[in-house]
Amino acid sequence: MDAFEQIVKGLESKTGEAKEAELKSLKEECICPDCPTYNLCADRTGEILYCILGRSEECISEELGCNCPDCPVAARGGLTELYYCIKGSEMEMRAERKKG
Ligand code: SF4
Ligand code: SF4
Repeated sequence: MDAFEQIVKGLESKTGEAKEAELKSLKEECICPDCPTYNLCADRTGEILYCILGRSEECISEELGCNCPDCPVAARGGLTELYYCIKGSEMEMRAERKKG
């Protein structure tokens, strides 16, 4: 299991308040709100942490720059992809890559 899988498993293994607390902590580390692609719609709907929670439902579709390479979650998890808000979560991207 690599570093990112450990972050995801760590989150999934928790329930209730402990899971909420872990999620809150990860969301606080996410720097998406400082990114040029992030918009008012995403802010209003509370979207964030796309690398784990998946792509933007209906707010983001245009690539205007991605801050993920500077994010502490990406550094800790060894993430190298960009635009999780548009392309989907890291795990979804990995599944796609496996399919070829
Ligand atoms: S890697 Fe990107 S999507 Fe994931 S927490 Fe960091 S800024 Fe947010
Ligand atoms: S995933 Fe990247 S492009 Fe999308 S909002 Fe977060 S930092 Fe910006």
